[in-house]
Amino acid sequence: MTRDEMIQLFYDSQAILKGHFQLTSGKHANQYMQCAQVLKYPDRAALLISELKGKLAGNYDLVVGPAIGGILVSYEMARQLGVPALFTERENGKMALRRGFQIQPGQRVLVVEDVITTGGSVQEAIECVVDAGGIVDEAAVLVDRSGGNHVLQVPVTSLLEIQLATYDPSECPLCATSKAIKPGSRNL
Ligand SMILES: [Zn+2]
Repeated sequence: MTRDEMIQLFYDSQAILKGHFQLTSGKHANQYMQCAQVLKYPDRAALLISELKGKLAGNYDLVVGPAIGGILVSYEMARQLGVPALFTERENGKMALRRGFQIQPGQRVLVVEDVITTGGSVQEAIECVVDAGGIVDEAAVLVDRSGGNHVLQVPVTSLLEIQLATYDPSECPLCATSKAIKPGSRNL
């Protein structure tokens, strides 16, 4: 698939919306992304993750993703690689491997996520894996929104690099002609 075809799949799935949005950060933006909207179609998730799989640098024994965004990506990537899929989740605010999930020392682990902005959750998941004895030398994400400004301490393989323009409300050019709406409201 070309980059344009992949982006079109996000638009067709309403995983990227164009408009005038008020983000949870308070900033305004002309686009909004919600990866869950494309991953809700299993065939589209399989297609995108197959493309991501084709870009991986290494071979892996296990896939791990941080909940919630990383769970579907972990599952589908693991299904295609023929290995188990685990996920990390927060316990009292701290990222942890729960549910009896175990990693054997020396296992090569691919850590995945749907979208990164700072990569904070992915880095925490990596630390869980490393603490358990796993080896992590690559993270794979569908969408990298970091613009290179992430905290990950391993190389990141991404399907798409997308940077959304955001504005302080006082400087938002879109505010001249429309009112910002909160994504997730019923009119979306
Ligand atoms: Zn605005």
